[in-house]
Amino acid sequence: MKKIQSIRGMNDLLPEDSPRWQYLESQVAQLLSQYSYREIRFPVLEPTELFKRSIGEVTDIVEKEMYTFDDRNGESVTLRPEGTAGCVRACEQNSLIHNQVQRLWYQGPMFRYERPQKGRLRQFHQIGVEVFGLDGPDIDAELITMTWRLWQQLGLSEVVTLQLNSLGTMASRGCYRDALVDYLSQRKDQLDEDSQRRLQTNPMRILDSKNPETQLLLNDAPDLSDFLDEASQLHFQQLCGLLDAVGVPYQINPRLVRGLDYYGKTVFEWVTDSLGAQGTVCAGGRYDGLVEQLGGKSTPAVGFAMGIERLVLLLDAAGVVPDSIARQVDVYLVAAGDVQAQALVLGETLRSECPGLRLQSHCGGGSFKSQMKKADKSNAVVALILGENEAANGEVSVKFLRAEQPQQTMAIADAVVLLNNQILENNGS
Ligand code: ATP
Ligand code: MG
Repeated sequence: MKKIQSIRGMNDLLPEDSPRWQYLESQVAQLLSQYSYREIRFPVLEPTELFKRSIGEVTDIVEKEMYTFDDRNGESVTLRPEGTAGCVRACEQNSLIHNQVQRLWYQGPMFRYERPQKGRLRQFHQIGVEVFGLDGPDIDAELITMTWRLWQQLGLSEVVTLQLNSLGTMASRGCYRDALVDYLSQRKDQLDEDSQRRLQTNPMRILDSKNPETQLLLNDAPDLSDFLDEASQLHFQQLCGLLDAVGVPYQINPRLVRGLDYYGKTVFEWVTDSLGAQGTVCAGGRYDGLVEQLGGKSTPAVGFAMGIERLVLLLDAAGVVPDSIARQVDVYLVAAGDVQAQALVLGETLRSECPGLRLQSHCGGGSFKSQMKKADKSNAVVALILGENEAANGEVSVKFLRAEQPQQTMAIADAVVLLNNQILENNGS
């Protein structure tokens, strides 16, 4: 019979890869708690209308990337393509926004019908952060500084750069859009098909066209920064000042616009050269209009999302995942002879006495030799050997598998001390 395959662009995360994901996720969770952000979880399936109304009807996502279908009741539902809209919906519905400040984060799968390639999937995963109720540049700076700390913590600060821009308010952006359309319409025949279409639907998106001729044409186009209203200008200057003060390096990119309609004022992206075309690992900005657009009271908001797949690729490329993370077993317990019960008890004792130790107990019997082979294959650092003699004496033999060191038989209490000192110390836990 033909075997069933996964849907294209929806990957399995295999056990040999999951430690790097866990490492990344735990580093981020720790960082977010350092900044007092709280986790929120909301459904992966939402009413289609939620995304249409927030992301914008004429964006790439809503036009061609959403997984939308009718449920059994005939209601149109959509697998979330991003987290911000669902987060706002959940907060509104549970009265978490009005008259209060929220610093929130979430993580999980997102779904977009895109052309799958390296760093671009149809089910991908994000960690997102959203802040409600603060309108100043101080919180924008906090978010950006927090991501900068993360890159440093992960050893990635050398391979990412921050691109920063301000889109101004809806009104100032509208004026700019008119000027841009005016300029580009006069040169329409020099635009590629995609940009010609965008000229009608979402002209700002032409700014980040990858087409070199279009980019050349844009060199003489009106500049977004000339259209910024005074408040947005000040906000942006202050943000830059704060980033200077804390020492986060950035590049102002006047053509950075982001693909979602709800952004205004600050937008930013952390990009890398190490991943080919899929170079944006973290992106976000301010969206002061969205809460109201979704039916709530007008509330300032700012946030970002990072792509976990791309960050894991980047960690791999930079070779910065600690060895102890890639290794999943520290100690392999070999039970040679008629010692099943004693081995079970010893395993439990060690798990109580050496918290954090990753211990694999041999199961399934077999000769001493075959068990030692499995110990080696497990990548463990140490094999603990419980033979009938050791069991009778309350002892265990310790064999280092990756170092030239004579095998030693010792009391279990001494083995506990040794494991705590040597293995857990090296794991950094
Ligand atoms: P891109 O320009 O690469 O399509 P985007 O602007 O659509 O990205 P956002 O909607 O801002 O991306 O999502 C934030 C982050 O989520 C991106 O920077 C990226 O790291 C990740 N991401 C977005 N789409 C995908 C995807 N299809 N597969 C994997 N990661 C993705
Ligand atoms: Mg995209």
